Amino acid sequence: MTDHREFESEMLRTALRQLDHVAQKLGVDPDVHERLRHPRRALVVSIPIRMDNGKTGVFTGYRVHHNTVLGPTKGGLRYAPDVNLGEVTALAMLMSWKCALMGLPYGGAKGGVRCNPRQLSRTELEHLTRRYTAEIILLIGPDLDIPAPDLGTDEQVMAWMMDTYSMTQGRTVPGVVTGKPLLIGGSAGRREATGRGIVYVLYQAARMLGEEIRGRKVAVQGFGNVGSVAARLLWREGAIIAGISDLGGGIWNPRGIDVAQLERHVAEAGTVVGFPDTDRLTNQEILEQACDIVIPAAVASQIREDNADRVKAHIVVEGANGPTTLEADAILRDRGVTVVPDVLANAGGVVVSYFEWVQGLQYYFWRESEITARLQEVMTRAFNRVWGVATKEGTDLRTAALMEGIRRVAEGYKIRGLYP
Ligand code: GLU
Repeated sequence: MTDHREFESEMLRTALRQLDHVAQKLGVDPDVHERLRHPRRALVVSIPIRMDNGKTGVFTGYRVHHNTVLGPTKGGLRYAPDVNLGEVTALAMLMSWKCALMGLPYGGAKGGVRCNPRQLSRTELEHLTRRYTAEIILLIGPDLDIPAPDLGTDEQVMAWMMDTYSMTQGRTVPGVVTGKPLLIGGSAGRREATGRGIVYVLYQAARMLGEEIRGRKVAVQGFGNVGSVAARLLWREGAIIAGISDLGGGIWNPRGIDVAQLERHVAEAGTVVGFPDTDRLTNQEILEQACDIVIPAAVASQIREDNADRVKAHIVVEGANGPTTLEADAILRDRGVTVVPDVLANAGGVVVSYFEWVQGLQYYFWRESEITARLQEVMTRAFNRVWGVATKEGTDLRTAALMEGIRRVAEGYKIRGLYP
């Protein structure tokens, strides 16, 4: 299936190369390996909506289930101008490895709608979300596939999805999506979960390397849900947040940026740019400044063959999905840079999504302190497992994390066997 032209995408080629490399290393049964290379199902839908100007706009949407061997599928929904079937399939595959690595009872899925959410009004976004939900309704459900926010989507989008699904069922079904607003069944701490998880794994990485976070210089690419939370928490812990960027560009002050003040600035100005006492940088330059830790928390393919040499940090924590290309990964590895890979580093989001789903199914909600403590435990355990595999096998952390994730899915296939 992934050999078909519809799936053509750089991101999927990368995901498949990673899978092939790791499957060979693990000695995965060739029949199981072949199954892992293909998504279980992929749906492409047209989404016609009434635009504010009275005309009909038609958008393209996708939902891909990579595998269901460990449970129902789980994964975000992204709204982006260049999203395509291959990219969504690659991201669904990554969700499979991520969920398995974190010990969650889920297979991987992903969804996407090709659109620029910043150019749509709120009404248009609502129409788009509701019609998309209606078009994929046969593929989602609390024990079938559970979407969540990703690039370009948020709590409000999840609320519309939950409402649309619930209307067709004639009852409220909170477990159909995660990342919902608190009032309608969301979980305490879900919004902060990905950023918080990044901080937990960074702490573990620093500990293993015999370093402290306090006083370390950090650059964060992206000031969305992931980057802003990670920056705020690290700043509170005494790290020097020297640089931050968003869609408008980057800012730099080697003496450190007051993240609380920056948040107020962003609330007014809509961008980090223009924050007092900072130099202006581009989104690329932010990755190349003299600092200890870089957190790419924006979009994919930011550290590439052409700039990996210029990354000066010795720790990279991947907040985004796929921010480092395969070629760049090899360069960083050869230079001795510790890269905490996306499937581990940004897994805090789906871990608390799992907590939200469990709470929703039981109609029993936990305190934020309980969620944070459980998140820390899951992240720390997963990090230590990955570190252990990397040490034992003599590999980098990405290979070790993928080995852990892929091994579990492959074993699941082996145990369940082939139907019929
Ligand atoms: N979109 C997030 C990710 O890439 C979260 C997915 C979820 O919570 O299901 O991991």
